[in-house]
Formats: sequence, C-alpha cells, structure tokens
Amino acid sequence: MIHHRTPEFDAILKRVLFNLKKIFFSHQDVYIFSSTGSGGMEALIVNVLNPGDEVLSVVSGKFGERWADMAETFGARVTRFPIPWGERFPLDQFEDILIKKPFSAVLTQACETSTGAAHPIAKMGDIVRKTQNKNCLFLVDGITALGAYPLPMDDWNIDGLVGGSQKAFMLPTGLSFVCLSDRAWEKAEQVKTPRFYFDLRKEREANKRSETYFSSSVAHIRALDWVLSDLLSRGIADHFKPIERRCLFTRTFCSRLGLSLFPQSPSLSLTALRLPPDLDGQKIRSRLESEFAITVMGGQDQLKGKILRIGHMGYIKNIEMIRLIKALSQVLQSEGWAFPPFDEKELVSWWENNE
Ligand SMILES: *Cc1c(COP(=O)(O)O)cnc(C)c1O
Repeated sequence: MIHHRTPEFDAILKRVLFNLKKIFFSHQDVYIFSSTGSGGMEALIVNVLNPGDEVLSVVSGKFGERWADMAETFGARVTRFPIPWGERFPLDQFEDILIKKPFSAVLTQACETSTGAAHPIAKMGDIVRKTQNKNCLFLVDGITALGAYPLPMDDWNIDGLVGGSQKAFMLPTGLSFVCLSDRAWEKAEQVKTPRFYFDLRKEREANKRSETYFSSSVAHIRALDWVLSDLLSRGIADHFKPIERRCLFTRTFCSRLGLSLFPQSPSLSLTALRLPPDLDGQKIRSRLESEFAITVMGGQDQLKGKILRIGHMGYIKNIEMIRLIKALSQVLQSEGWAFPPFDEKELVSWWENNE
C-alpha cells in the first residue's frame, strides 16, 4: 500500500480521472467517491436537487424504486413514472407527462438491472430537452451500462451520470463515479440540500490538486488505474465487443434451451430469462452454484424464483460461457424441462462464426 498524499499516488489519481472521462464520453471532469453505486446516486441528488423540487422518476424495477425513495428522502416532490417490470419503455407516455408539467429533474436507470431492461436514453434525453425548459436536469443511473456499452453523456444530453466499480468496471464493490454537465454544475453551486461527504464542490477543489477530498481508497483506485489503462490500450470498442458477444451467445443458446428473454428491450450487460412456471428459479440457481460453481442471479420481489439473470460484465472467458450453457442445460434437463437436443460442438463453433 502507498500513502494517498504522495506524489506517487497523485500521479495515479490524475491518470485515472483523465481516463474516466473517456468512459463517460464527456469533456466534463469525473469525480470518484469511496462508496458503492448508491452513494453516487445520492451524490447526484444532494448536489443538484433542492427540497421541494418537482422530480419525475422512472420506476421500472428495484433500482428505480430506490432512486425515487432517495429523492423523496431529501425532500424532492417525486412523481413516479411506473413501467410494469420488463416492459418496453413507453416513450409516448413519457413525452405526454413531460409536455404537461415542468420538472426540475428526470431520474432514470440506463439499464434496470433487476429486470435486465435497457432504456432508450438517447431518445429520452431528446424528449426531455424538447419538452422541458433548460432548468430540467436529466439524471441517469448508468451503473450497469456505463463501461458495458456506449452511454455518451455529452451527446445524449445527460446532465448527471453515475457509474459503479463492481459492475462494468470489473472491480470489487467500493467506488462510485459521478459526472455533471455545465447546467447541473450551475445548479450545484446554489442548491440548499445539506451535503457533506458527497459535496462535489469540495471534491472539485481537491481534484485540482490531484487529490480526493477525503482519504482515497488507494487499493481500489490503483486497481481502477490498471483496468482503465488496459481497456483504453485495447480501445473502447474492443472492450464493448466481447460483452456484446457474450450477450448474443447467451441469448442464442438460452433460446435453444427453450427459455425466453424476460425484458422486451434487453440490455447487453446482462440477460434476464423468464423461467417456465413449473421450474423453480431459486433451485436452479443454487444447483448451478453448488454443482458447477457458477453464480447467476435470480429475481427480486415479484420476480423471485421466476427469472434468472446472467451477467456479461467482467473478465469472463468464452470457455466459461460454454460451461454455463452446458451446466444450465444439464440442470434444466434433470429438473424435467425438455428442449430439442443440440450438439455441444455448436457451443464452440459459435465463437468462430461470430467474430
Ligand atoms: C448495482 C446497482 C446499483 C448500486 O448498487 P450498490 O449496491 O449501491 O453498488 C444502482 N443502480 C443499478 C442499476 C445497479 O445495477
């Protein structure tokens, strides 16, 4: 371990902060907090919303619920925009609501991880700009999108964007990343909401000296330095591509196993599969874990036992994806689920045929 107030660490932090901007596709500076992703979501709220602000909050799963509740906790007047879990984002209804009433902010997930749905952020950003005055901020929780597929903050009119270390950044839990547009910074200078740890103004001053305001999470940031340097040396497109291929592989062979996708607009960062009613998702998950040492996630709340979620972010080898499909097909078969058999060689040749 090195000390965080040393020239050696300052150089690392400076490089990391510079490289993060490329993942955000932004000319704005990015800030790092020693918190999980939810801390980054809170940082956005407390820095750009005042108590009493009218906020429209997209709620299409667990993480949408969390952000709406969080905004309410800090005094915002939250109008929820509910979408039945897994359903396609209703752009027309979204526009109808925004035309009728001015909001101080619109909150949404880019990818609602609890259902595996990706939201049409570029189109949503256009609608917000078209229907609202310039004071309305478009705030996006990109925790399972940023770093997994393109989410260009500046081009898509995003005013606040948050990412997290343990999802697309392929690291342990413990860092969140936050970026604001000029418009959001203007608001951040005046906001009355109490903020101390997550005060971006203090962070901005410290970053100018290549330091974080509070003690830096040195181990995480050094690991992030490695991840970003490696990723950017290959080029960001070459980083996104394998994630997409793992996703397409999973979709292809899970459909051969007779499983359908749960969300109507599925994300590239994870695949959520709907299980037939006579299969118990909890049991399938725990058998994959105990018999094959493969970890996949299930559903939460209303989806408990009904879906399986397979993550595509992280350092995952093709051979591991092949093992997953083999294991899943064995477990499904022994649970009494029938599907037309296929040759295992296809699992190998898929990768050669889909370069
Ligand atoms: C994981 C996740 C979060 C944050 O969770 P933490 O446990 O606080 O890191 C927030 N939003 C989405 C969409 C997520 O997938």
